[in-house]
Parts: sequence; structure tokens; C-alpha cells
Amino acid sequence: MQPLRASMVAEAPTLTSDGAKAQIGNGAFLNKALSGRAKSGPGVVSKSKLKIGIVGAGLAGMVAAMDLADAGHDVEIFELRPFVGGKVSSWLDKDGNHIEMGLHVFFGCYYNLFGIMERTGSFDLLRLKEHTHTFINNGGGIGALDFRFPIGAPVSGLQAFARTEQIGVSDKLANALRLGTSPIVRALVDFDGGMDMVRELDDITFTEWFTQLEGPFKGSARGSIDRMWDPIAYALGFIDCDHISARCMLTIFMLFAIRTEASVLRMLEGSPQTYLHDPILRYLDERGVKVNLRTAVRDIVHDTDASGKPTRVRGIVVGGNNELKEYDCVIAACDLPGIKKVLPESFRSSYKFFDNIYKLDCVPIATVQVRFDGWVTEMQDMEKMKDVSGDQSDGRGAGIDNLLYSADAEFSCFADMALTSPGEYYKKGEGSLIQAVFDSRAFERSEEQIVADCIKQLNDLFPSSKALKCTWSSVVKLGQSLYREAPGMDKYRPTQATPIDNFFLAGSYTYQDYIDSMEGATKSGLMVADEVIARAEELAAQARNAKPRKEAAGTAA
Ligand SMILES: Cc1cc2nc3c(=O)[nH]c(=O)nc-3n(C[C@H](O)[C@H](O)[C@H](O)COP(=O)(O)OP(=O)(O)OC[C@H]3O[C@@H](n4cnc5c(N)ncnc54)[C@H](O)[C@@H]3O)c2cc1C
Repeated sequence: MQPLRASMVAEAPTLTSDGAKAQIGNGAFLNKALSGRAKSGPGVVSKSKLKIGIVGAGLAGMVAAMDLADAGHDVEIFELRPFVGGKVSSWLDKDGNHIEMGLHVFFGCYYNLFGIMERTGSFDLLRLKEHTHTFINNGGGIGALDFRFPIGAPVSGLQAFARTEQIGVSDKLANALRLGTSPIVRALVDFDGGMDMVRELDDITFTEWFTQLEGPFKGSARGSIDRMWDPIAYALGFIDCDHISARCMLTIFMLFAIRTEASVLRMLEGSPQTYLHDPILRYLDERGVKVNLRTAVRDIVHDTDASGKPTRVRGIVVGGNNELKEYDCVIAACDLPGIKKVLPESFRSSYKFFDNIYKLDCVPIATVQVRFDGWVTEMQDMEKMKDVSGDQSDGRGAGIDNLLYSADAEFSCFADMALTSPGEYYKKGEGSLIQAVFDSRAFERSEEQIVADCIKQLNDLFPSSKALKCTWSSVVKLGQSLYREAPGMDKYRPTQATPIDNFFLAGSYTYQDYIDSMEGATKSGLMVADEVIARAEELAAQARNAKPRKEAAGTAA
């Protein structure tokens, strides 16, 4: 078992449960068995029934609730938005269009999330895509990292990088030099050694790492960064190679190199609400978990010692009426802006553990949906491009049915949802529904301008699409989305167990040893549940021994 990095555990309470420990460290990356654990649940029922309050109904909060309910606890969730799902949420507008917070794809190494989806019956509803990552360049040029090969990883990956049309020969040489001397190669023979090297690269950017060997040939690596690595970095963290941590990027490539399935993509049949969250909500409902929507948690009520240091959480203050709800244990499964807002000042001033959270930062994004009267990504056949007649459901429309990347647009990744997720995004008599995620480069612009820029940039990528008309559009701006995977930040991510015994954290920004993602959120939810379950008897005893609120010295309201 790989211990937590020494630098990050300075003040972090050690995780105690085997389940949470199994999610971190080098062994966890290749551990397909995690899927079985997520699928079957915690496998124990606690002797004592805890009353547990969860703040936030994103994936992390909902997954934690699934396990805790199965372990016999009494669980209630509070979500400030009118819908569940957090960053992977979707909702219907007044005309019945499914609006999404962001474009979501599922990597084949999402062992935990796939286990959860099997448990709730939604895994088989994912649509598997061709095993190729496609880059679209201005003027309609297509490059690909095509992993389809009779032999699996690492050979399939090596041939994909060697054969890609996305970069020229000199860039391929620079790539070969850098990747050939990277921790990834070491990991092929010594996985632990390679992963340890990757972990040590958190303090520098991917560009700094990639250009380390340029020597007298300064600038020689820029071509592949600009044309191939930047779109991938943007797709992973909405920042470029000059700003993203080398650890973050290399962790993903390590997985691609070792596991064939890691680079395979899947997308939902339709919206996240229908195909991911509704099955989870049914599961929670069947187990008596109450999910309160439109109910913000405004404060965390806690006891303090004589010096004012928080010692125990009593409950939370919720909703417009500031109702106090008392719990044996509280899990804050918020996003980063949410946790920063809800943590009492005394938590921060008393414990470096909580103060570190404020060193983390988020990136802004704008998700754009643009519907057309024809098929945008069909560049070969003009007739097919304009043909929206008849039934073209189930991905039968013309064009590319996969996630797309581009180095030439301000949205690094995008997809035609009418093809990739046709269940709810294809509309009879209409064509493409392009969904694209703009990053900070466009965030400040007006929504009208972002739509206009999206159409212009799509027209540049797919010149034939100039003949098509936009029939509908929507923009969702999220000022604070993913946590910024900048160098040096990993050590500030908090563990799920905190210095306050009955107060826990979950969420993709917490330390779950993977990037901010649906899989990361799921891992954190499972980890926090395992921690609570492992401590259930101790937490129940503490709750029994807690003085009634009005008698508790130093209780902070
Ligand atoms: C545009 C975009 C595209 C993405 N694409 C992908 C992708 O392709 N693949 C992938 O794996 N991941 C992707 N992600 C990342 C993924 O969506 C997140 O990592 C994941 O959903 C985070 O889940 P979470 O539960 O940790 O947090 P969140 O989803 O942020 O949930 C936290 C919840 O807490 C609630 N909350 C906060 N404060 C309070 C409070 N005081 N009271 C009550 N409720 C509160 C929030 O409203 C929110 O619902 C993408 C993210 C974005 C933004």
C-alpha cells in the first residue's frame, strides 16, 4: 500500500479504513477490483445507526449516501441547486431542451464509477465510441491518435503516437525523445518506480517537463505541445500545458500506456439527469435517503474547546429559515467554492488542514450548445450534410460520432451530441447539436458573442458547415468549475477524514489520487463512506456522550 505523500499528511488525519486506503497509491491505478467494490457496496451493516447529514448532491455526495444507506445509516442530503449532479448536472429548459453544465465523457478506467453505474443499472446505457482520439484542424484537416490495433497497451499507444497525422516528423522525434525517457517507460517494467517519478513532478508544468531535454534545440518541442498536447491539457483541466501540472498529465498517460481500456471513451445515451442521476436517485429513494433540493447549507454548528478551537460538529443550518438540523456526523461533499463558503472561520484559523483548502483555486468555463439544420461534422458529402429527413435517431445522422479535440478553437473539446448521445439530443427534422466547452479565453465575453465565436470557429474547422444555419443555442457559464490542476497544488488537497472526528469531506477536489473528474468524485464518495463506516461505533459513542447543546461549553452557533 502506498502511503500518502509525507508533504501532504503533515496535519492530515490518516485514513483508517482499508477501503479508503485501497483507493490511493500506485496500486489503486490498476486495480480493476475497485469496480466490484463500487458495484457491490460496502458489504457491512454497522451495529449503530448514525444520523448523517450530507452537504451537496454532486456525484461525491450521492455516492457516499448510497454506501452509507446500505450500511444501515440514516442519511439526508442538502443541495442548494434545484437539481442534483453538481458539475455533471443537466436540466430541461422551457422548450424541452436538455441543458448541460458541461460535456462529459467516460474514460475506460473509471472502474469506480462504472461499478456504481452497474449497481444502479445505468452502465449498459453508455455508448462505446471508436477507440480513437480525433483532432480537427482549421480547414477540415483531421489528425488522430488511433489506438485501434490488434495488440493492446503499450503497443497500441506507441503506434498511435508514431502514426498520428496531427504532428510532423520533427515533432514526433521530440515526442519520442521525451516520452522515451519519461517515467512512463520506466513504469512499463517497474510500475511503482514510474508512478513515484510522476508524483514527484507535481511542482512543474507539463511544458517545463516536456522541454527539459531540448538542450541547444530550444523550441523544438513546441510544435507537439501546441498541436497535440495543449488540446489534451485543456480537455483534462481547462488550462494549457504551460499551466497544468506535469503530474496531472503524466498520470493520465501512464494509465493510457499500461491499460488498453484507459483511453477508450464512452458517452451517455442522453442527458446526465436521465442516464446517470435518476438511477442513483431511485437507489437512494428505495433506501429512504431524503434529498432536499434548493436547500443551501449556511453554517456548520460546532462545539469548541476553551481556546475556541472547534472540537465536534453538532449539525448544520439549512434553508432560508436557517433551520438547525442536528447530526451525529456531517459530510461536506461540496465543490471548492461551496466548501470555502460554508467552512466556519474558526476551522480555518485553528487547523492548517482546512486553511490549505483556500490555496486551491478553480478555472472558469462556458458550455455552449448550438443546434444546426444539418450535420456539421460531415465534410465529405454535401447532400448527406443537409439531409435531416426521416428518422435519424440512434446515431444514424451523418458525421463523427466521438469526442473531438482542436488546437485551433477556443473550445478544446467538443462533440455532436445528436450523434454521440442521441437518446435525448437528436431531434427529428434537426441536425447536429454541437456541445463545446470554452475555457477562460472566452469566459468574459457576452453569451451572444460566445455563440457567434463558436459558430465562426466551427465554420473554420468544418468549412462545409458555412452552408448550415444555427437553429438554437444556449450558454451556461460556470465561473468556478474544476479545481485548477496547477503545479504544487496536489499537496493542499484535503483527505476525506478531517481533524474534527465527526466532520468529513468529499468531492473531486479532495485527495483521491486522481484528477478532478467524475471518477475522482466517485472515489472520494466511496472513500468517505468507508471512513465513516470504519468509525461508526466510535462516532455513535461520541454522539451518545455529547452534552446537550445548551450545556456544551463554547458551542458556536
Ligand atoms: C464543463 C465540464 C466538463 C467536464 N467534463 C468531464 C468529463 O468529460 N469527464 C469527467 O470525468 N469529468 C468531467 N468534469 C468534471 C466532473 O464534472 C466533476 O469532477 C465532478 O462532477 C465533481 O463532482 P463533485 O460531487 O465532487 O462536485 P460537484 O459536482 O461540484 O457537486 C458539489 C455539489 O455541492 C453543492 N453545494 C455546494 N455548496 C453547498 C451548500 N452550501 N449547500 C448545499 N449544497 C452545496 C453544489 O451545488 C453541487 O451540486 C467536467 C466538469 C466540467 C465543469
